[in-house]
Amino acid sequence: MTSSSSSSSSTSARSSTRPVSGRGLAGKVVTIDPGHNGANGQHPEIINQLVDGGYGQRNVCNTTGTQTDAGYPEHEFTWNVATYLRPLLEAKGITVVMTRSSDTGVGPCTDKRAAIENDAGADAAVSIHGDGAPPEVRGFYVLTATRPPAGAAMAAASLRLASCLATAAVAAGFPASNTLGSGGLWKRDDLTGLNRSTRPKILIECGNMRNATEAAIMSSTDGQQWYAQALAQGIFAFLQG
Ligand code: ZN
Repeated sequence: MTSSSSSSSSTSARSSTRPVSGRGLAGKVVTIDPGHNGANGQHPEIINQLVDGGYGQRNVCNTTGTQTDAGYPEHEFTWNVATYLRPLLEAKGITVVMTRSSDTGVGPCTDKRAAIENDAGADAAVSIHGDGAPPEVRGFYVLTATRPPAGAAMAAASLRLASCLATAAVAAGFPASNTLGSGGLWKRDDLTGLNRSTRPKILIECGNMRNATEAAIMSSTDGQQWYAQALAQGIFAFLQG
């Protein structure tokens, strides 16, 4: 990235020349949490340990996740979408923190993932998953915590993040869930990653990996990049709102 022949103009950038599309994004912190991990299945003694799930719950550290009927695993889907999403955010000057650094490890536990997001002071925390529902079920849904773990204002921010992501997903051509919630928005009270978060936090089930149509999309590079683009647009909208 060095260039000795074009130094005369590179030092004269003014704020008026910054692209409008990046307004308000530079310096923000976004955490990306790719659900599960590649070696979880080989280490039940680790992922089945109980952790503090919030509100007095004791939940398992992590799970193996689901897969398509053809055997394409959720952990690989979430890792690939996260890997495609990260540079889209960084191109706008956003600092990205990942909750895991490869797709070959174990964990971390979901309470640890929440701690990573909290410690990063995330302006937006996005957990990426794929569902394993009956084959006729289709569509994405975005989860927030039923109970507000960090007060009403943070809960409202989480809901707005969820709404921005749902709107962006629909705009990108992804259908909202045909079974849960309304417009792709749903809540749960039993997920450690939501219950233990003190930041604007959502978990998106991008689609049903047991539905043939969505399985084909979710196990393809084009489909994973499509999801990453939609998530990036939703995050941008939230951070600029
Ligand atoms: Zn999952």
